[in-house]
Amino acid sequence: MVSMDKIVSLCKRRGFVYPGSEIYGGMANTWDYGPLGARMLANIKKLWWDSFVDRRDNVFPLDSGIISNPKVWEASGHIASFTDPLVECKSCHKRFRADHIDSNKCPECSGELAEAKLFNLMFKTFIGPVEEQGSIAYLRPETAQGMFVNFKNILITERPTLPFGIAQIGKAFRNEITPGNFIFRTLEFEQMEIEWFVRPDSWEKEFEEWKNRMWQWLLDVGVDKDRLKWRAHGHDELSHYSKRTEDIEFEFPFGWGELYGLAYRTDFDLKNHTAKSGQDLQYEDPQTGEKFFPHVVEPTFGVGRTFLTILLSAYTEDGDRMILKLNPKVAPYKVAVFPLVANKPEIVEKAHSVYELISTNYPTFFDERGNIGKRYYAQDEIGTPWCVTIDYQTLEDNTVTIRDRDTTKQERVSVDQLKEVLDKKLRNSE
Ligand code: ATP
Repeated sequence: MVSMDKIVSLCKRRGFVYPGSEIYGGMANTWDYGPLGARMLANIKKLWWDSFVDRRDNVFPLDSGIISNPKVWEASGHIASFTDPLVECKSCHKRFRADHIDSNKCPECSGELAEAKLFNLMFKTFIGPVEEQGSIAYLRPETAQGMFVNFKNILITERPTLPFGIAQIGKAFRNEITPGNFIFRTLEFEQMEIEWFVRPDSWEKEFEEWKNRMWQWLLDVGVDKDRLKWRAHGHDELSHYSKRTEDIEFEFPFGWGELYGLAYRTDFDLKNHTAKSGQDLQYEDPQTGEKFFPHVVEPTFGVGRTFLTILLSAYTEDGDRMILKLNPKVAPYKVAVFPLVANKPEIVEKAHSVYELISTNYPTFFDERGNIGKRYYAQDEIGTPWCVTIDYQTLEDNTVTIRDRDTTKQERVSVDQLKEVLDKKLRNSE
């Protein structure tokens, strides 16, 4: 299994992920996605959106705000209950999560630990110039609440019938104090989340269906299935809103850790927002006129953790060659185009015209530096599935070679058919 150090250094070296505020010495649990990482993140989100929003007529997308009325977080229970128990060392004053510590000694300096205290994970801020109680606001710690507070709006504008979903992709913020393990745990992160509203008596069946869909999605984006498992939460671990939660865990180099969560949230949120806001958030059955609170099954997909597990699954070494065997749909570049030699103007010119042809369809990389072998290696390392080379023969018969990243095999294809051949490869790729 590849080590985290190797992944972190590849990410930095090739521009997938940089340490946050690096020129100022960085800041714990913050990272920035570079040119390749930003492309890959966008691909992951687009694929998710295609499968869970665009290909379903009963899922309604939303893009709600990060800052909302603090009453939202009172009703949701986050002000009272979104806490981690922390212990502080009486000598070095470092804080640790009580549930991550086995003894009553500080793991850093062996000092004595104080009693555990509850620490709220929400980032607090103030609206306006005066920092006082009445102007407190919170950055959302989950995207879910935006979907509950807009439930009535969606009922009115979309007239959906159960079961249906509200979905969004967006940032969430948590004041995490535990070590991050690279992008596994960060202060801000993106979630791809669906609130799936169901009839109260059908939640178990819906829960099972979502388990299958979440699992299948991971296989579709190229996560190694031998490093995945489901884990059900015990009663003492359940979040304040949940009656049943199961996580998909991945075997990271630092051990098994949560990748996604699937929670049965009952009617907790809609009921509480109704009580707190005075607005009736019940659903009315269009056939019978019966009014009731739908129950909710919530699949949550962390974007950063998806990104990390895809990289860990794709990383392969073959002697001194390093290959990222990314699913082509996720890969930052689909194709690289090379002139075989850089000092023959006809070849370089032809390579530019082939680049123009392909780059209207997909992100394409053009490279004429160094020798061809090095260029292939450089593309293998960032997961580019196909390299197209323009050589002497191209000038004679208008054919180019396509080299496959995983097999290193080459085939010759006419430039006239190149777009079609690449399209087909991409469509058929897994
Ligand atoms: P953990 O137990 O690791 O703290 P959690 O149970 O608090 O996670 P959820 O509240 O279920 O996490 O959040 C849903 C998803 O959001 C997680 O499955 C994960 O993919 C992602 N996520 C949660 N916290 C973070 C974080 N600090 N950094 C990156 N991703 C996160």
